[in-house]
Amino acid sequence: MQFSDLGLAPELLQSITEQGYTEPTPVQVKAIPPILLGRDVMAAAQTGTGKTASFTLPMLQRLKGYASTSVSPARHPVRALILTPTRELAAQVEASVKTYGKHLPLRVASVYGGVPIEPQTAALRAGIEILVATPGRLLDHVQSKTVMFHATSFLVLDEADRMLDMGFLPDIKRIIALLPAARQTLLFSATYSEEIRALAKQWLREPAQVEVSPRNSVTETVTHTVFKVDSRFKRDALVNLLRARDMKQVLVFCNTKIGANRLAYKLEKDGLGAAAIHSDRTQAERMQALAGFKEGNMRILVATDIAARGLDIDHLPFVVNFDLPSNPEDYIHRIGRTGRAGLKGEAISLIGEEDREKLASVEKLIKAKLPLTDLPSAPRSRDRTATTRARSVDTKERPAGARARPADAKARSADPLFDQPYQAQQQPARKMDADTKTPMTNPGKQQKGRQIAALFLPPATKHDA
Ligand code: AMP
Repeated sequence: MQFSDLGLAPELLQSITEQGYTEPTPVQVKAIPPILLGRDVMAAAQTGTGKTASFTLPMLQRLKGYASTSVSPARHPVRALILTPTRELAAQVEASVKTYGKHLPLRVASVYGGVPIEPQTAALRAGIEILVATPGRLLDHVQSKTVMFHATSFLVLDEADRMLDMGFLPDIKRIIALLPAARQTLLFSATYSEEIRALAKQWLREPAQVEVSPRNSVTETVTHTVFKVDSRFKRDALVNLLRARDMKQVLVFCNTKIGANRLAYKLEKDGLGAAAIHSDRTQAERMQALAGFKEGNMRILVATDIAARGLDIDHLPFVVNFDLPSNPEDYIHRIGRTGRAGLKGEAISLIGEEDREKLASVEKLIKAKLPLTDLPSAPRSRDRTATTRARSVDTKERPAGARARPADAKARSADPLFDQPYQAQQQPARKMDADTKTPMTNPGKQQKGRQIAALFLPPATKHDA
């Protein structure tokens, strides 16, 4: 199957060729024809399958007739609205629309929280045909009457499952109520819950169903490796692993912002080159960290689920679950960052005793067994990092049987945050940040942390799922 067999316009085929795509991905083969025919589509496609192009290309074709070089804002009403869960995904979808629509005079803009609203207002006032938005910030624009939907005939709900997870349902309902009833609606979701199905029934009319991989499945091109580690020394275990395998460009997931900060600090201190991205960091900081990582200037990006949502990093070879997610569907989302567009990737998880239940939930969801591999202990004298850690611990918190703290131990850092041992935190229900309209992660109940030196050797083997 060729792109030209899908009935796409020459301007779009030209962009596709410029992108170097030789053939459409399965989701593109299945979704593009019904969308071109004007049908509603409900697609179960996870990130990395080429789903963005599967709705962007036919959307651009359907809007082609409205392309106008006029400078009058009235000639550029919003004709298509794409809702995404996060700012990063909104920015990426906007970039894709620009790439694929390069040879069509259609205007696109994105609006999302966490950045000043004024430039967005100016773009909306100037007139745009395609608007990519996160729900919260879009409603701010609705409130200030900078956006109108009278000419909107195309709606895409991208990563719908994640939007619901993040509590955007009331916002989405409000937005849909503002749109003309006569419209084409597409719903993309990596996972299908009963709730998504029920909502799709309300919002879509006789949709074509597109399913490219079994529901709630993971990309076949990703190898899963699960290491059993002592939770107290996960950070040291990760450092050893990264060094032993000389892993470059690694996206590491933590469940909490503080956990991500601590880990990035430790990796950076160990000379591995790392930065953290999460919702407490400014958009500029997040973009800068992401750019450094994409360009290969920084080896490790430590992220929380929210911040990493929708990240598209070309050829990302490794994803590491430093913490296993509380919500098993996040495992699918996380590892979807690697093994994209048919390339190979590896998903590594570090599993402590307390992660076993979460691992079982992941296995149940993806319907595959993920065998545990041991990370054997190394001789203590070889682990400089762990020895340093032992010096920083407080004897009072030391569990029975743990080694005594050296008598001459001194605190290493002026910042107590970084001297505390890592303590896994459970992810509580997500709340929305009132300023940015993005979800916040509250520190949950802390699990008991114990502090003694951790010594691990690099992995000897790995297991495929
Ligand atoms: P997505 O699933 O939309 O996040 O896309 C994942 C990656 O696949 C992006 O980097 C796209 O540029 C790339 N991609 C999309 N369609 C194709 C294609 N037909 N051939 C090769 N790469 C593609």
